[in-house]
Amino acid sequence: MKKEDIIDRLNQVREEVSFFAKKANRDPSSVTIVAVSKKQPVEYIRWAYEAGQRDFGENYIQEGLEKIEKLKEKEIRFHYIGRCQSNKAKYIPGRFVLIHSVDSLKFARELNKRCEKLDTSQEILIEVNVAKESTKGGLLPEDVCSFVENILRETQKLILRGLMCMPPYFEDPEKVRPYFRELRKLKEEVERKFQIDLPHLSMGMSSDFKQAILEGATLVRIGTSIFGPRGN
Ligand SMILES: *Cc1c(COP(=O)(O)O)cnc(C)c1O
Repeated sequence: MKKEDIIDRLNQVREEVSFFAKKANRDPSSVTIVAVSKKQPVEYIRWAYEAGQRDFGENYIQEGLEKIEKLKEKEIRFHYIGRCQSNKAKYIPGRFVLIHSVDSLKFARELNKRCEKLDTSQEILIEVNVAKESTKGGLLPEDVCSFVENILRETQKLILRGLMCMPPYFEDPEKVRPYFRELRKLKEEVERKFQIDLPHLSMGMSSDFKQAILEGATLVRIGTSIFGPRGN
């Protein structure tokens, strides 16, 4: 991809995000685009940054850390959206603004311990496996409340900010909407039950972010539509 292409694509995504936010009677600034830069060169991040993009998502710790190091002079907010393995928790605090994909107590405890050591806190989202797919990470919807209870009781350094999901792909993105709606309902249930405010719903990718915005997404994680196909 050329620099102009990436900037054009980013602007196109921005317009679509804004259009669908307005369509849902929402303020366009209530939706943040997280540009998913996994398996894309650092150069692409620089170009998007020059065009004003500040939030980027990475899936692989090692790759993410390398990019953070190379771009440390810039005011970039890196999000971690990959699988949460306990042995990787030590690399996260102080480097990623938000972890979207927390789905095990073992990982949460380890992350909390690392935060205590550094005397810092870490904002997190809980990943929910809304379609109960065996191949995907995330908690089953029915297990979310007891998980939240444990997080609130045990992991004082973790700040719960909302929920995330990655529903199945459908040719017709309208078919994904019920899953997005379910995540929103679940968030509302958790807020009521625990008397907490959860500002974030991380849902929607290149193929379905419009539907996600109509259902209340505050963070859309968009890779391909901005950066094109990924190298492997
Ligand atoms: C790769 C990835 C995305 C971005 O997917 P695109 O279809 O390229 O927009 C979003 N969320 C997660 C968790 C991902 O792994």
